[in-house]
Amino acid sequence: MSKTPLILLIEDHPIVRAGCRRLLEERGGIRVTEAETAAEGLRICREIGPDLVMLDLGLGDGGGLAGLRRLLTAAPGLKVLIFSMHEEPVMVAGALEAGARGYVSKNDDPAALLEAVDQVGAGEVYLSRPVAQKLALMNLRPGQSPLRGLSAREREVLAQLSTGQSLAEVAAQIGISYRTAAAVAAQIRAKLNLPSMAALIRLAVEQASAAPSDDLGAGGQRSVPSGP
Ligand code: CA
Repeated sequence: MSKTPLILLIEDHPIVRAGCRRLLEERGGIRVTEAETAAEGLRICREIGPDLVMLDLGLGDGGGLAGLRRLLTAAPGLKVLIFSMHEEPVMVAGALEAGARGYVSKNDDPAALLEAVDQVGAGEVYLSRPVAQKLALMNLRPGQSPLRGLSAREREVLAQLSTGQSLAEVAAQIGISYRTAAAVAAQIRAKLNLPSMAALIRLAVEQASAAPSDDLGAGGQRSVPSGP
């Protein structure tokens, strides 16, 4: 007596949303419903209770890892598949740690997305091959915070960068030279396998918005949690 599974697609980009929906519907055997914002997705989860959620981490009204936690608090045990442009292992590890069952990058093959939906739907954990490789290269086990390997100074610089300050401003704020701040930023990038300074800043902002106290609708700035 199994009913057709319902997938909730939470994605703010209309073209990506339409493409995903078509891909899923062409395959058949599932129903698809959509949400454009984190708040709408949360409401639909509470009201309808989908069998699986495909969640974009970059939503206009927040979302991110905090949005993921909010969904899982509202619907414990919900099967959430992350569908994101972020491929940084630190984001993948953070999502798994927060309770996601799968992670697919927007750069992955469409076949990977369908495979992910099948496997997560069946109760398995799914990582697309490139995502899994990057995670493995970082020598991480899912469930372990990647920020654990950072020193107190590195965490401090990461926290300051998350507030949108330049590296020079961060150096002045902490009371270190620009040269030292640049060296610390380079150390963080090396430890977290981040390809550029832009990726480091994005991570800093994402980590800040992933603080457990965060609210979906809050757009304010806050510091990065200092604990592991
Ligand atoms: Ca998006």
